[in-house]
Amino acid sequence: MNDNRSLPAVDRVLHGLADLIEIHGRQLVTGAVRAELAAAREGAKHGLPLPDEVALHAAIRRRADEAGRARLRTVFNLSGTVLHTNLGRAQLADEAIALMVEAARAPCALEYDLASGGRGDRDELVSPLLAEIVAGGSPDIAATVVNNNAAAVLLTLNALAQGREAVVSRGELVEIGGAFRIPDVMRRAQVRLHEIGTTNRTHARDYQEAIGAKTALLMKVHASNYAVTGFTASVDAGTVAGIAHAAGLPFMIDLGSGTLCDFAAWGLPAEPTPQQALAAGADIVTFSGDKLLGGPQTGLIVGRRELIARIKKNPLKRALRVGKTTLAALEATLRLYLDPDRLRERLPTLRLLTRANGDIEAAARRLQPAVQAALGDFASVAVAPCASQIGSGAQPVATLPSIALVIRPAAKRPGRALLAIEAAFRALPTPVIGNIRDDAFRLDLRCLEAQDEPRFVAQLAELHLP
Ligand SMILES: *Cc1c(COP(=O)(O)O)cnc(C)c1O
Repeated sequence: MNDNRSLPAVDRVLHGLADLIEIHGRQLVTGAVRAELAAAREGAKHGLPLPDEVALHAAIRRRADEAGRARLRTVFNLSGTVLHTNLGRAQLADEAIALMVEAARAPCALEYDLASGGRGDRDELVSPLLAEIVAGGSPDIAATVVNNNAAAVLLTLNALAQGREAVVSRGELVEIGGAFRIPDVMRRAQVRLHEIGTTNRTHARDYQEAIGAKTALLMKVHASNYAVTGFTASVDAGTVAGIAHAAGLPFMIDLGSGTLCDFAAWGLPAEPTPQQALAAGADIVTFSGDKLLGGPQTGLIVGRRELIARIKKNPLKRALRVGKTTLAALEATLRLYLDPDRLRERLPTLRLLTRANGDIEAAARRLQPAVQAALGDFASVAVAPCASQIGSGAQPVATLPSIALVIRPAAKRPGRALLAIEAAFRALPTPVIGNIRDDAFRLDLRCLEAQDEPRFVAQLAELHLP
């Protein structure tokens, strides 16, 4: 090709790429051929030599492999944030993955009552389980599941308070990362927000004085991603419940994270649970399925049966409901909670959050030589303490002691070298996500479990530094 200074036709190139077509399909490979031929032509205009067949084929293969790779890539989350929203939050338990795969592969009784042969209710797959876990199986408690907790709050407010008022303390008008802000959700739910108290102090009488003819419910929102400290006052759930019920109104709590187990018992910072919220008198509790609960992305609405029934009748429910694979993963995850003795070992979120420091340190010492070898003279790799964050808004202030590989570039002014190291780890076949802090690139090893170490080490051979 080089000799006669011309490029082959698309069809001729395709002819030599049968094996690539077998992998990626004709359309994708044709696209890659066209793009590489166009690039070669463009290069020639600027005086570059035309590629020979070997170079052309190699470029097409690279382009096709890149285009054929799934966009949703798995990564090593060594960022130090365990429940990282941008990295997909909770990793599912093997039990959840297995049931999810089964439900995906075969027809399943999603809304089909196998006892009667009649129509079933998809919420019934998990509602009794949730009632068991959060209320000892109380028949007065039911649950419904939607796409995420934002949807749970939107649906609950619309179903119970449309065209009326919800009373919320100014200190609880939260914004969660992304675009979830309580006042905006209220507006979309067509509920008037009745703000009470001040940013730092709200009292019981503020709730009492707010109640009027238009009031539909009282609401508390767990300040999951911030802390108000200093001269503060807020009203506990039990007191707000008493005020709501005296006025004949429902009381709703948006818990956010909503772990189903006692975090303090695991040596973790205490988090309010739906159990506590209901025991304190909440009529409805909303929380996420993929934060501390450790399941799939869902929003769980749990509470008094007649209110749940009203919520389920709302047309938005149909728009916000979840599919069979999600329900399969949620059901299997919830079942793990029925066996608390083995929960820590089976639920990745809890296992990672409670991982012993000595265990993480041992991993760091094992991995340090391989990472140092991959970086050569470019940077030094040390083992040092760090602080993991729980993430997803849970416990913004509390951190968990952990161990990191701390990578410091040899360069005098490390800025650019740090970015190069970060990019090189991100470019690995399974991208490694760390974080840059205090002139070092840090890999918090809390979330790199022993079974994944060989894969992590093997791909270090492909780390390319400038
Ligand atoms: C995280 C959170 C939400 C939003 O939940 P998603 O599952 O992300 O939609 C709502 N309220 C609170 C208090 C939260 O912490």
